[in-house]
Order: sequence, then structure tokens, then C-alpha cells
Amino acid sequence: MGVLEIRKFDDPVLRQKARLVRRVNAAVRKTLDEMAETLCAAKGAGLAAPQIGIDRALVVIDVGEGLIELVNPKIVSSEGSVTAVEGCLSLPGMFGEVPRAEKVKVEALDGNGHRTWVEGEGLLARALQHELDHLDGVLFIDKATSITIEEGDEDEPKNPDAAGAAGDAGEASRPGTKD
Ligand code: ZN
Repeated sequence: MGVLEIRKFDDPVLRQKARLVRRVNAAVRKTLDEMAETLCAAKGAGLAAPQIGIDRALVVIDVGEGLIELVNPKIVSSEGSVTAVEGCLSLPGMFGEVPRAEKVKVEALDGNGHRTWVEGEGLLARALQHELDHLDGVLFIDKATSITIEEGDEDEPKNPDAAGAAGDAGEASRPGTKD
């Protein structure tokens, strides 16, 4: 148990396609617990297993409505489109405007290996899409229509509150308080 190191920037594991989990066993449960602890410590909204160096299809999300644990998640339906600013715990200091579906429905196994469905809109929908992208080795910068680097670029300042509320940015908008 414990807080794990979050892989960043050009770490190759972030670009790998995560492998499906065959069985939700004790090892998977332990990984989910560690992911939840790491997410909490980083004050993020979501975390995918590749971000802690594990190429398995595991995601944890907490957008302030309780912890959601997803094993082998896939989007089964989506509707609408909305563009908003998001960031990523693996890309500290970077923010981008990313178009996403407004609502999504995800099918997965829960932390006990039971089939579950999660329907989300707003921030939850965005977090689900962002984290599931991580399982395909896709980062938000691949889909962003504009990208802002926090240090340096002052042409297009973004609202840090909006950025902190989207994706798994969380703490990324306040790098000075990471510890
Ligand atoms: Zn991310």
C-alpha cells in the first residue's frame, strides 16, 4: 500500500495500450487501492494504471461524488459535444481545450469484479473519457485544440479554476503545493 510515483511527460508507459484484466484478484485490488491513495495524495480527479507504470486497464475517478473504480472500462454510448480546459497529472503545467462528448455511458467491472455501468455528464463525463484515453496510450494533448504551458506563455491565460476542475488536473494548476 502507499502512494506511488506518477509517470510523467514522455515516459513510454503512457503511450502503451493497457492490457485487459482477466480476473479481479487480490493483486488487482491492491493496485486499485494504491491508485486511489495516489489519486487522493495528488488531489486529482482521476488516475489510470499506466500513469503509475502499470499497463493494465484500471481506472480510479473521484470528482467529489465518491470513489469510482473501473476494471476493463469501455464507452458503450455517448452524446453531445462540449469543449473545456483540462489538464493531466502526468503533464504538470500543461492545459488544453479539449472537445469531449457531453455524456457518456461506460461499462466495466467494479472493484469486486462485478459488471457495472457508470453514466456521467459534465466533469464526470470528461474524467471518464480522459482516463479511458490513457488506457489506449492517448493523452489530452493529442486531442486538444489549443495547449497552454503554465510557465512562459502569457498570450492566452486560462482560468486556473476551470483547469483544476477538469480531467485529472486537480493539483496541476498549483504546482507549488504538490507536497
Ligand atoms: Zn491524465
